[in-house]
Amino acid sequence: MSQVIARANADALPDITTERGERAVFCGLTSIIWLHRRIQDAFFLVVGSRTCAHLLQSAAGVMIFAEPRFATAILGERDLAGMADCHEELDRVVSELLARRPDIRRLFLVGSCPSEVIKLDLANAAARLQGVHENRLRISAFSGSGIETTFTQGEDQCLASMVPDLPVLSEGSQRLMVVGTLADIVEEQFRRHFAQLGITEVDFFPAARADDLPPVGPGTRVLLAQPYLSDTVTALTKRGAKLVSAPYPLGIEGTLGWFEAAASEWGHHAEAVQEALAIPVARAQKSLARVRESLEGRSVHFLPDSQLEIPLARFLRDECGMSLTEIATPYLDQTLMADELRRLGSGVSLVEGSDLDSALARVREHRPDLTVCGMGIANPLEAEGFRTKWSIELIFTPIQGFDQVADLAGLFARPLVRERQLEVGSWS
Ligand code: SF4
Repeated sequence: MSQVIARANADALPDITTERGERAVFCGLTSIIWLHRRIQDAFFLVVGSRTCAHLLQSAAGVMIFAEPRFATAILGERDLAGMADCHEELDRVVSELLARRPDIRRLFLVGSCPSEVIKLDLANAAARLQGVHENRLRISAFSGSGIETTFTQGEDQCLASMVPDLPVLSEGSQRLMVVGTLADIVEEQFRRHFAQLGITEVDFFPAARADDLPPVGPGTRVLLAQPYLSDTVTALTKRGAKLVSAPYPLGIEGTLGWFEAAASEWGHHAEAVQEALAIPVARAQKSLARVRESLEGRSVHFLPDSQLEIPLARFLRDECGMSLTEIATPYLDQTLMADELRRLGSGVSLVEGSDLDSALARVREHRPDLTVCGMGIANPLEAEGFRTKWSIELIFTPIQGFDQVADLAGLFARPLVRERQLEVGSWS
C-alpha cells in the first residue's frame, strides 16, 4: 500500500530531514560522458586507476571508429607509493596527446580517488601546462573523485574550473547566461523561445565549442538549466553575475516559470510570456495528456542520486497526478532550490543526504508504485517486486522544455505500463 502525501500548501516549505550514512551513487567521473558529447572539441584526461578507466569505458560505450575524447592516465604502484615523479609523467602524457590531437581546444585534467589520496595537485599541474601550451588551447583541472563528488557534481566542478577563463562583459550591457549542459536540440528550442520574448542576448554555458566562452560581469543574469551547479554559481557570482531565482525547465509549469523568471529581468510581465509561448504550451499539454493516464493516481518515491529529484517530483505531482511518498536528494542547496521548494510546499517528506539502509527500509514500508534510484539499487529492488526507474537515464535524455514534456513523463510511465502488460499477459 502506498502512503499518499497530500498536495502542498504553496506558502509553506517541505519538512526537511538530514541523513548521513552509506550512499550508493556513481562518482563525478560519470559526468564526462555527457560533458564530452556537449563540448565537442574538449578532451578529458582522468588521472586515476584502472577502475576509473573501466567505469568510463563501460559507461561511455566508445565506438571503435570514433577517436575518443577522454582517456585515463593510470597511476601505477610506483606513483601511488610516491616513488615516481607524477608531474613529469603527466607532462609527457599531455605533450604526446596534444601532438597527436591538434583538434583539441580545451584539456581537462580530471582528479580521481587515487589522485586525491596521493595529493596530486592537478590545479597546479594545469597552470604549469597552460604556461607550456599557452597559445594552443586552454587547460584546467577539476575533481571527479568519488570521495568528493556524486555523479552530477562532476559537471559542477568542470564548469566552475572554466569560470576564470570567461571574458569580461562590457560595462552597461545585460546578457542572459543559461548554465548547465543541455542537448543541442533543447538549446535550439530555448533560443527560439527567448527570441519570441525579445531576448536575443543569450549565451549557453557550456557551449558546443570550447572557445565559445560567454562573457561575465555585473550585467550577467544566470539562469540555471540544471540544479546541481552550486560551485559554478558561486564562481560566477564572485565575478559579479546575478542568479535569477526560477524553477527548473522540467514540465510545462517549470518551463513556463523558468522563461517568466528570465523575462522579468528584461521587464516583461508573466502575462506577456504566457501569450508569447501559448502555442508550445498548448502543444505540450496535448502531448502530456496521453501519457498522464498511465501515471495519474500512482505513487513515486525518490532515492538520493541525481539532484534532479525535487523538480522531477514537483512535475510528477503537479502535472501528472502522482503522489509522493518521499523525495531524497544527495545535497540540497536551498538558494538554488528556493523557487522549487516554494512550489513543493509543506506536507512533503524531503530528505537531504543518504543512509542507504534506512532509505531502503522506508521504500519497503511505503511500497510505492515506482522508485526512482541509482542503477546499483534498482536490480535488488526489482527482485523484491518494486518497479524502478534509473535516475541516470534522466541525465542522458533530453527532458527539458515544452517539446520534451511527454518524453519526460514517458520515462516514468514505461515501467508502470510494462508491469500492467505483464499482469494482463499472465492472466490471458
Ligand atoms: S574516481 Fe574513485 S569512485 Fe570513481 S571510478 Fe575512480 S576510484 Fe572509483
